[in-house]
Amino acid sequence: MSTRLTPVLSKFWDDPQSWTLATYEANEGYQGLRAALGKDPAALVDMAKGSGLRGRGGAGFPTGMKWGFLPPPDGGPRYLVVNADESEPGTCKDIPLLMAAPQFLIEGMIITSYAIGCHHAFIYLRGETVHVYRRLLRAVEEARAAGYLGQNILGSGFDLEITVHAGAGAYICGEETALLDSLEGRRGQPRLKPPFPAVAGLYARPTVVNNVESIASIPPILLHGADWFADMGTEKSTGFGLFSLSGHVTRPGQYEAPLGITLRELLDMAGGMRGGRKLKFWTPGGSSTPIFTDAHLDVPLDFESVAAEGSMLGTRALQIFDETTSVVRAVSRWTDFYAHESCGKCTPCREGTYWLKQVMNRLEQGMGQPGDIEKLLDICDNILGRAFCALGDGATSPITSAIQYFREEFEQGMHTPWHELFPPERSTLF
Ligand code: NAD
Repeated sequence: MSTRLTPVLSKFWDDPQSWTLATYEANEGYQGLRAALGKDPAALVDMAKGSGLRGRGGAGFPTGMKWGFLPPPDGGPRYLVVNADESEPGTCKDIPLLMAAPQFLIEGMIITSYAIGCHHAFIYLRGETVHVYRRLLRAVEEARAAGYLGQNILGSGFDLEITVHAGAGAYICGEETALLDSLEGRRGQPRLKPPFPAVAGLYARPTVVNNVESIASIPPILLHGADWFADMGTEKSTGFGLFSLSGHVTRPGQYEAPLGITLRELLDMAGGMRGGRKLKFWTPGGSSTPIFTDAHLDVPLDFESVAAEGSMLGTRALQIFDETTSVVRAVSRWTDFYAHESCGKCTPCREGTYWLKQVMNRLEQGMGQPGDIEKLLDICDNILGRAFCALGDGATSPITSAIQYFREEFEQGMHTPWHELFPPERSTLF
């Protein structure tokens, strides 16, 4: 059995008191911050760049480079906003991390704020996750009581406050500029980019928006060095990441491993397919990434290799489906999601996801019409690259890739409902 796990962020999740400051400090917690406060902030930005860390929210943009995009200080405020609005279907890494070891994020935020000259940082969290909200409030309180937050942190002269903000539960608010609008008290809808948040973000001030896991990875990098991180993973996709396995797998959960690991290796560690069944299809990075099949078991899960095979690494949300699953039904559920969550700002996404849903739903029910597959592909073609943000593109990915690999199932949807093709009593999912 493969042992390619690299437990760093997940190292002490099994400790019954894993979320406390005491447990964190007993596991090298806040040593990275102590090392950081003695350094020149510019050296910290260089360290992030040198580690090769790429955004863990899905897009994989180099984290250090993003920090480096901030304009020179002009005496006004600059902000760090952590995107904790995890809501990509299948994605379940940030919330487990925040529940199990929230101090990784708090320490990472202090180091990052020091590096970029920020004195007020925000965490934007999904509103429905009240348990996570409470845990984060407690974590911030514990850090402040220990002198890690507030005025003159650890006698360094550096000041920082952290505000935890709970959103109202909209997928679009995970898009960084919609998130900023929501944080400012407006209806969350994406802004036109450029300007990127680095130039004009929260309250039109320079802002770094980073994912939870990206910022949580900063303290270990500070402590062990950029080279330590860069030596893991692949040349262009360095380090480790949390891979979330869900669906028809024996032991679902988060597996922390170097980028470049394969699904075959991860499945091996997760006890294989549930019930010994056969893998049919899977998502490498949540439902917005084109699906893969059993032909892709050995694709290294790094940004470049997954892209070379026509998909995206995304959030490393590996949703696994076995042979008993109707691909049309699964894709139809995701399409319902995108149609529901489209914010309505731009026409291709607002109208397009509505039409995709109509066609997918009738194919699922065996009531498809001649030309429906071409209609789906045409609508996807009219959304892709024409929507205001990535939500529209994401809605097309599962449809076009499912038609690519399982066209015959879409053709069956012209006359046979999914439950006759895949009787629910045989299915292990629906
Ligand atoms: P993007 O590539 O447009 O941007 C990525 C980041 O890089 C952003 O922070 C952006 O501001 C920054 N950036 C890019 N170019 C820049 C430039 N020239 N100057 C300054 N900054 C620059 O991607 P996106 O639209 O932010 O995100 C799309 C990704 O989100 C998808 O790949 C998907 O995997 C992921 N996603 C994640 C979730 C989740 O729950 N975590 C949900 C939906 C989608």
